[in-house]
Amino acid sequence: MKPKIISCIGIRPDIIRLSQIIKKLDKYFDNIIVDSGQHYDYNLNKIFYEQLEVRESDFNLNIKSGTHAQQVGNLMIAFERLIKKKHPQFVIVLGDNNSSLGFALATSKLNIPLIHIEAGMRSKNWIMPEEKNRIVIDHLADMNICYLPEHRENLIREGLNPRCIWVVGNPIIEVVEKANPKFLQKEPFYLVTCHRAENVENNNNLKIILEFLGKLYQKKQVEIKFIVMPKTEHMMEKYSLEFPEGINPIPPQGFLEFLGMEKQARLVITDSGTVVEECAILGTACLTIRESTERIDLIELGVNTLTGMNIDIMLNAAEFALSQENAPVTHYGEKVSEKICNILLGNSLYFHRRVNG
Ligand code: UDP
Repeated sequence: MKPKIISCIGIRPDIIRLSQIIKKLDKYFDNIIVDSGQHYDYNLNKIFYEQLEVRESDFNLNIKSGTHAQQVGNLMIAFERLIKKKHPQFVIVLGDNNSSLGFALATSKLNIPLIHIEAGMRSKNWIMPEEKNRIVIDHLADMNICYLPEHRENLIREGLNPRCIWVVGNPIIEVVEKANPKFLQKEPFYLVTCHRAENVENNNNLKIILEFLGKLYQKKQVEIKFIVMPKTEHMMEKYSLEFPEGINPIPPQGFLEFLGMEKQARLVITDSGTVVEECAILGTACLTIRESTERIDLIELGVNTLTGMNIDIMLNAAEFALSQENAPVTHYGEKVSEKICNILLGNSLYFHRRVNG
């Protein structure tokens, strides 16, 4: 009999990052996929299952939008019910979003072994909701699976048991390689994504970003394609903000279309965690428009520039990034989903004993 597990999906990047891993888990485990329903629009959810050929989730908890407490609370209640019905041997959670936190808390409170993929990343910025989520999840987890050795070191510094930490590489490398946008040529446009609370729920930062983009267009006369998430649209209305000349707002794209745009763009400007990694893999110049980042490896490799929120520095950083020739990074490893599957198989007897005595 195959070990019964639950794989949790919260938001768009979870489907993307887990897409190759889930295919392996489906072969060797009795794998139940649960989608929190935090992202529910077709172009933020279902399109990624379709394009990345991930089978449909077995359960959708339909938590939708709400305050952090509503999302985490509603998810915990619904997921606790499901765990009690299904009796998994362990639960896999990825990332640092509110759904990840809700899944992790419900699992851990029922003493079901919890596996956290993407463990140990730290921005050292305690104001970020993601930083709070990832620290709590890492400390609840029975097994932490990290992308890079420095993430393991972060966890050890926080007192976690080194024997419960594995370093396997970054699963996004397999997803990008499978989609293979290599043949695309550069086109004259810059690409922007901006969705983090620190930017779109902060009137001041959103204004700075728009002013920076307006000035960048005035200077370079290159079209700027701006992907507008529903929350950003809502906040722009609320603060009566408008896109400056040269900024072309476009709706969220499918993964294959967006990855192609990342490859074609001369410069990507983003506050996303996954987008900076994809640009590093594709060799596209990229700015992180935030005050801090947990992707310090990319700064040290010289393929990503952290701008902060000062317009002059942002413009300077854009000039710098455009002047660089970035080779695709190679430090994300290979066979990441095989390694994760291997580690989980090797520990499934231990987890079985823990749950069943
Ligand atoms: N993405 C996409 N379509 C878009 C914008 C982004 O498919 O219009 C993908 C992108 O390639 C990356 C992921 O969504 O894989 C990033 O998601 P997001 O920025 O929402 O989350 P984060 O990585 O910051 O957690």
